[in-house]
Amino acid sequence: MKAVVFSKQGSTEVLQYTDVPKPTLDANEVLVKVEACAVNYLDLHARRNRPEIEAKLSRGDTPHILGSDIAGTIAEIGETVSGTTVGDRVVLAPCIPCGVCSDCYGGAENLCDTQELIGFQTNGGYAEYVKAPAQNAIQIPDALSFVNAAAMPIAYLTAWHMLMIRAKLHPGEDILILGVGGGVGSAGLQIAKLTGARVFATASSDEKLARAREMGADATINYKDIDFSEAVLAATDGRGVDVVLEHVGAATWEQSIASLAKNGRLVSCGVTTGNIGTLNIRKLYQKQLTVMGSALGTVTELRTLVHLAARGQLEPIIDRTLPLHRAGEAHVLLENRQNFGKVVLINA
Ligand SMILES: [Zn+2]
Repeated sequence: MKAVVFSKQGSTEVLQYTDVPKPTLDANEVLVKVEACAVNYLDLHARRNRPEIEAKLSRGDTPHILGSDIAGTIAEIGETVSGTTVGDRVVLAPCIPCGVCSDCYGGAENLCDTQELIGFQTNGGYAEYVKAPAQNAIQIPDALSFVNAAAMPIAYLTAWHMLMIRAKLHPGEDILILGVGGGVGSAGLQIAKLTGARVFATASSDEKLARAREMGADATINYKDIDFSEAVLAATDGRGVDVVLEHVGAATWEQSIASLAKNGRLVSCGVTTGNIGTLNIRKLYQKQLTVMGSALGTVTELRTLVHLAARGQLEPIIDRTLPLHRAGEAHVLLENRQNFGKVVLINA
């Protein structure tokens, strides 16, 4: 089969469009003919220098195939698979949990210590075919395109788990969404509007903020040369917001905390600018703040998201589609932050 692969980490030059063997199935697995595979920032980090990929390559598990957000059709099923048949249209849940630990049994498989991410610890969807455990394959209705389905798993699962499961955002609340031009930010905006919350959004370009307002953001803040917490406090009569969706990390942490109202909740899913932030503990308890973490979401949550997208209540933002062999260009687009929404690779 054709695939975009690499055997050593580096710039986009290491990506090669070539022939590799089709995956062979274990009894509990399905083979998916990939129709669409969305590109994530994680793919760029994996290609460049993530140690998990280096470890996979150096133990001889080579070449590596990226791609965690995958939609396609079932092409083959393993001997013990039931409930899924050849030809089914599916989207793949991106994580493969162990299935037997206490977190997995408790329905919180996103906390499983030994879970693997497709396209990261295993080979992924920058290919004609990918394999996955049958329970990762979620059927999608005809109303949901492969491209839109592939744009959903990581960004929408992350945003949903943050806002609905962790922060429990509800109608009438104010939320601040950082980096609204990114995958998690734009998904968070749509989900927050579904709940009836009032949305404040930040981005570094007026163009991205205009798009965010078209998508329903109530107020937008260009954070480029200002302390955005001051703009948030000014826009809320000094009160602050009930929830902050934080995924930037060190560069924004203190401003994010300072944007919170009394009883406010900060929920974080990422640290693109660094792991360490400081916290004024006196303010934490005096304002009765809550700081919480969030990591991806569960298969059950992804089913809910597929349902909402099929009904048109959520609509992934697609920047563009590119044929699989142009994966390197897709990486450059993300590297230069030239995209608004998802870049999706398709098998033409
Ligand atoms: Zn587990």
